[in-house]
Amino acid sequence: MDLAYTPKQQAFRAEVRAWLADNLPREPLASYDTREGFEQHREWESRLFDARLSMVMWPAELGGRGCDLTEWLIFEEEYYGAGAPMRVNQNGQLLLGPTLMEFGTEEQKKRFLPRMAASADMWAQGWSEPNAGSDMAAITSKAIRDGDHYVLNGQKTWSTRAIFADWLFGLFRSDPGSSRHHGLSFLLVPLDAPGVTIRPIKALNGKDAFAEVFFDDVRVPVDNRIGAEGQGWHVAMATAGFERGLLLRSPARFQYTARKLVELYRANQASADRDPSIREAVCEAWMAAEAYALSAYHTVGRLARGARIGAESSTNKIFWSELDLRMHETAMRILGARGELLAGAPESGDDHGWLEGFLFAQAGPIYAGTNEIQRNIIAERMLGLPK
Ligand SMILES: Cc1cc2nc3c(=O)[nH]c(=O)nc-3n(C[C@H](O)[C@H](O)[C@H](O)COP(=O)(O)OP(=O)(O)OC[C@H]3O[C@@H](n4cnc5c(N)ncnc54)[C@H](O)[C@@H]3O)c2cc1C
Repeated sequence: MDLAYTPKQQAFRAEVRAWLADNLPREPLASYDTREGFEQHREWESRLFDARLSMVMWPAELGGRGCDLTEWLIFEEEYYGAGAPMRVNQNGQLLLGPTLMEFGTEEQKKRFLPRMAASADMWAQGWSEPNAGSDMAAITSKAIRDGDHYVLNGQKTWSTRAIFADWLFGLFRSDPGSSRHHGLSFLLVPLDAPGVTIRPIKALNGKDAFAEVFFDDVRVPVDNRIGAEGQGWHVAMATAGFERGLLLRSPARFQYTARKLVELYRANQASADRDPSIREAVCEAWMAAEAYALSAYHTVGRLARGARIGAESSTNKIFWSELDLRMHETAMRILGARGELLAGAPESGDDHGWLEGFLFAQAGPIYAGTNEIQRNIIAERMLGLPK
């Protein structure tokens, strides 16, 4: 076994590194949970697209480079290593994109994928409802067929940045007599359609990071359905697999946080060392982030030999979300009361990003399927324990 990078991989790494060094925004972008920041991120991602670095694994005809998963890991290492902006079009590019490639018609792929790749269309995810979160099969929003349209009525909630997005993909009950995971259809809905009302919900950071979306007799062409009528559950499960699998959270993101944590510890060592458990937590975080990266390379090797990612996407999801939480908790312990200062507060310095990260890390065990649900999946599908 040869664990060294090939010359082609090294050249790709060098190219990405050089491009980022020349093109990174000089000033940090505003938060993408604000209208201004969202548009700044859209603009940044369209520049990545122009350099064919937006979706490196997508084929060349969609503006990608047809990279394999190892090259994607390399791209991510360079991207996070350079401190580049967080990505904002993940719902489209990482979740709906692969779903369309697997289940979309040729016409749908041509219509939606290029605009998604270029961030001309930004996507929101519309699955959760007030009474359908972990139990997604309890969805009640309806899509009743009327000729070559569906008429949508109902409500979605917790839809990330839906207030700024252009489109929403969601699951709707197209067979009103059906129950649970039967009779659902996977539909693409333009958010400026008549009858759509979007109300922001504030996240812990006080910004409009989520929205509830109401549908009142919204007409959506049948052509906007992905997969067969009534087969939406099957399509959505593939999307959920993409979400929990490797792509949504690459190890590089956590390696970057671990490195920043080590820097924070070093800069505050005198006070941090008063509690020896802090030093231990910093080492543990760094090792766990490295271990996650090695495990991702192992998974990528297996996938390249034809394996499919299965229930281990649940172990990954638990691992990264809990690691992220622990790292941010450790940072807050190092900072002490200073950690609570908001950006712009006197003496907040450059450390306020930890508070924002700490607040967002609380959500990791909830989104992409809660960690309790992931533990159920591991118990039943990996360990064969009774339901
Ligand atoms: C940051 C963030 C972004 C999100 N973005 C989106 C989005 O864009 N689109 C979207 O549709 N949704 C989104 N969500 C919603 C998310 O999918 C739901 O919050 C999640 O599925 C849980 O559903 P719920 O909030 O209704 O909680 P519930 O399902 O009511 O769960 C409440 C608690 O009970 C536990 N629980 C429930 N059932 C079981 C069980 N069978 N066994 C053990 N424990 C159980 C859960 O783990 C949880 O701790 C987002 C959430 C967050 C935090």
